[in-house]
Amino acid sequence: MRGAKEITGTIRLKENLGLSKSKSFEVAIIGGGISGLCSALFLKQLGCNVTIFEKDKLVKSEGAGIQLTSNGLLVLEKLNLDRLAVEAGLKPNNLCLFDETDFKSVGSLEILDRLKARYGRSFITLHRSLLIKILFEKVKEEKIKVNFNSRALPLVLEDERNIYISCKGKKIEKDLIVVADGVGSTWKKNIFREIKADTISQSAYRFVLSKKNLPPIFSKNNINLFFGKGRHFVTYPTGKNGMINFVFCKREKGQMINNWKEKVTKQKFLNDFELNESLKICLPDVQKIYRWPIIESEKPTTLHKKNVVMVGDAAKSMLPYMAQGANKALEDSCELANCIKDFPLNVDEALKSYSKRRIKRIHQFDQVSRLNEKVYHLEQRVLRKIFFVFLRCLTRLSPNLFFKRLDWIYNYKA
Ligand SMILES: Cc1cc2nc3c(=O)[nH]c(=O)nc-3n(C[C@H](O)[C@H](O)[C@H](O)COP(=O)(O)OP(=O)(O)OC[C@H]3O[C@@H](n4cnc5c(N)ncnc54)[C@H](O)[C@@H]3O)c2cc1C
Repeated sequence: MRGAKEITGTIRLKENLGLSKSKSFEVAIIGGGISGLCSALFLKQLGCNVTIFEKDKLVKSEGAGIQLTSNGLLVLEKLNLDRLAVEAGLKPNNLCLFDETDFKSVGSLEILDRLKARYGRSFITLHRSLLIKILFEKVKEEKIKVNFNSRALPLVLEDERNIYISCKGKKIEKDLIVVADGVGSTWKKNIFREIKADTISQSAYRFVLSKKNLPPIFSKNNINLFFGKGRHFVTYPTGKNGMINFVFCKREKGQMINNWKEKVTKQKFLNDFELNESLKICLPDVQKIYRWPIIESEKPTTLHKKNVVMVGDAAKSMLPYMAQGANKALEDSCELANCIKDFPLNVDEALKSYSKRRIKRIHQFDQVSRLNEKVYHLEQRVLRKIFFVFLRCLTRLSPNLFFKRLDWIYNYKA
């Protein structure tokens, strides 16, 4: 029954979009990451004729762990992909908080049942490549066209109503261009010149390790968050593959380069992080350490221009202090389709509505991430100690209050 209803809805939308039987609504998606693949699926559901342009020869399996919360899982539920994601991922038992200097606990919260009860959906951690695989399999099943090795750039002709795509020397015209080209978005630089990418002086070092040889503090099925001086690090499982994701964030003095593949030596990592002994004993097993820049773009005032709209990290790259990058990308994709459904006869209005809705949320994310960054990286010892006393009391006496401040994130229904 549900399928029949969806199909009727799709046909109605096609009619509403004013499309004749012979003319379909042509959409290009720039980028085959989480937001690009997800947007393609939602827009295909609406009856649009979707083509993805991906600059690389395949969808990328690089990366490490991501966290999916109820707001992101709800979006996957709408694509009937939530079950696959939950099966691929792992549900952590507890959120454990530590003082990084001595590895002493400053609080612990049971999250497995608590989050499910509070938000109706599980909280899962998994490798980014697993989510990409799930989305890409569905893209293939839906027979959405994907052009690999296709770096697509904007072609702006003055006085034209629409912006075009330039790809492999060809000019391509589309009714809607969804820009999902990630953190260093070339489209944003070219079309939305007023929004500057602002590489803040912080970096994230990442590696994964098999839980087999790790000390118990890391190998358990928990999220461990360690607060240090001007830095923090977090560890969690990347799914059922027995691997643990380690992410170290710290302030940097110099400018960072935008590169997901910058490998650093163990020595460099050691020089940058004076490691606690419990952490040092893990190092012999580390094969590759990557350093990623923490990039934050200026707060946008609009996410659309003419027939172009931005989603995911292109719309706004997120500071990693709420672990919401993938969830926001999923929300964006779903909300874009919702707005097109709300204004089926008027794409301009649909994009305006999307922009307004998402900017409000982006600003909220921004405020809280900045606050979290300050708190996670407290430089003064006394302030850190006060913060730890506060965490001890909060986690013991009122664990629900801890999550109350996050309700607006996890309860969001795209
Ligand atoms: C290789 C990689 C690994 C990552 N690993 C992690 C991780 O482990 N943990 C984490 O929290 N976040 C990770 N991220 C970031 C995370 O995916 C994003 O924060 C979030 O999911 C939003 O994704 P997105 O689809 O907007 O952008 P992205 O995931 O960055 O995807 C953008 C896509 O656009 C393509 N592209 C760029 N320019 C063009 C162009 N001109 N034409 C065509 N295609 C183009 C890129 O090749 C890429 O596939 C990673 C991103 C990448 C690219």
